[in-house]
Amino acid sequence: MDINEQIADIKKTEFKWDYEKVEAKWQKRWEENQSFKAVDFSDKPKFYLLSEFFGPSGKGIHLGHVKCYTPTEIIARFMRFKGYNVLYPVGWDAFGLPTENYAIKMHKSPELVTKDNIAIFTNQLKKMGYSFDWSREFATTDPDYYKWTQWIFLQLFKHGMAYKSKGEVNFCPTCKTVLSNEDSQGGVCDRCHNPVIKAERNVWYLRMKDYSEKMLDAVDEINMKPNLKESQRNWIGKSVGAEVDFSVKGTDKKFTVFTTRADTLFGSTFMVISPEHELVDELQDKITNIDEIKAYREQAKHKSDIERTANKEKTGVKIQGITAINPVNQKEIPIFVADYVLSGYGTGAIMAVPAHDQRDYDFAKKFGIDIIPVLEGGDNYDEHPYEDDGIHINSDFLNGMGLEQAKQAITAWLEKNKLGKEKVNYKMQDWPFNRQRYWGEPFPIVICDKCGYVPVPEEELPLRLPKTDDFTPDDTGNGPLSKLTDWVNCKCPKCGGNAKRETDTMPNWAGSSWYWLRF
Ligand SMILES: [Zn+2]
Ligand SMILES: [Zn+2]
Repeated sequence: MDINEQIADIKKTEFKWDYEKVEAKWQKRWEENQSFKAVDFSDKPKFYLLSEFFGPSGKGIHLGHVKCYTPTEIIARFMRFKGYNVLYPVGWDAFGLPTENYAIKMHKSPELVTKDNIAIFTNQLKKMGYSFDWSREFATTDPDYYKWTQWIFLQLFKHGMAYKSKGEVNFCPTCKTVLSNEDSQGGVCDRCHNPVIKAERNVWYLRMKDYSEKMLDAVDEINMKPNLKESQRNWIGKSVGAEVDFSVKGTDKKFTVFTTRADTLFGSTFMVISPEHELVDELQDKITNIDEIKAYREQAKHKSDIERTANKEKTGVKIQGITAINPVNQKEIPIFVADYVLSGYGTGAIMAVPAHDQRDYDFAKKFGIDIIPVLEGGDNYDEHPYEDDGIHINSDFLNGMGLEQAKQAITAWLEKNKLGKEKVNYKMQDWPFNRQRYWGEPFPIVICDKCGYVPVPEEELPLRLPKTDDFTPDDTGNGPLSKLTDWVNCKCPKCGGNAKRETDTMPNWAGSSWYWLRF
């Protein structure tokens, strides 16, 4: 039988199962009986099963939703059959840029769009027969819910875990908004896919960095696939090393580098600092090619961190007019600016050891810098560096030592001579937590000339998102709320004087990172 005959045959088949009738019958019965409602104070053992909330877009559910939500559906039904009182909630992660952008496109308010989209999703999910407990449904955009998102923010603020400071941020000129590293991977905006630039702004940060060690411990304990654990660890990016002070020849200026290989200090033949490094500004009178350096700095501004550190050819400019002194042997070595050194990681300055690091080696070859081996084992430094372990050579008091012994010896020597100290570094940074957009939780913060940032009293929460029909940021990149002067101008809760509200809003992660606690 060829394929066409087979299809004709299938078409003739009469399906005995009239799914339209059968499904409608049972779905009606489930609805009427509230069959999937978790019972409060039941005698049955409890089972709480939570799937990620839906982001209700205008397109409705797609096959990917069905693929991702069916496994938990199976578990929910299985556990009910096993006699458990199953709590299997459903909800909507509905703040954020996708909804806002869609609303702007449709010339509707994000609130209305969210309501419509939730209705579409609800209808489709019920038709699919998912056994969610619809009686507990809510959206992160409900004022009853975001009241508590704001409350959590206030607790973070009151405990110094949320703070505002000037920062260099990933900024999407198209969406006119600040993006986290997670939202701008590959140097493009996660939402509009246009390139992201570096900009200086006043940013609300959450103090994530302080929790690096706690999070690392938690990764060990959590029940997750090993490769996922590894990527979490890499994201936190812990490295144990040393901070070493280098001085600038003929000045009283010092600058600090972070290195995990202080044991190779004797092989350090040049320094690289980030284009944004303060040394450039502090010593600009001494730097003879300052225009060139500043032009390079300007270029770097338009690259993302990922572009800057990507493994392609490294660019850089030698700083003319100043040199550094290697603290272990007093040798004078050149200083470069290069954009692969990031100002946000470590100290924004590195020592380069070209004999034992491919990146430093390539750079040294390109700029004709000395290559001094300090580990035994290299065979041809004209061709390539030696990146393996080896006994220390050309290193004075470290000669003959292995890696661990040399690391300890050099750290002790640096500490004794007050030239450096042991230091743990993390790649993870504090989290930029504000967006210059409309569709998010307003910050419950008032800005007073006299009192600074003042929390809105808890009994006044929720601080409701005011209604508007203009959802575009202004030309300076301030969020749409800044145009609503009636809402912005207020009294300071502390001194009673005239004050203004914070006009940025929170990212959608604010509401979506805690709903698991809501039930
Ligand atoms: Zn964008
Ligand atoms: Zn005040």
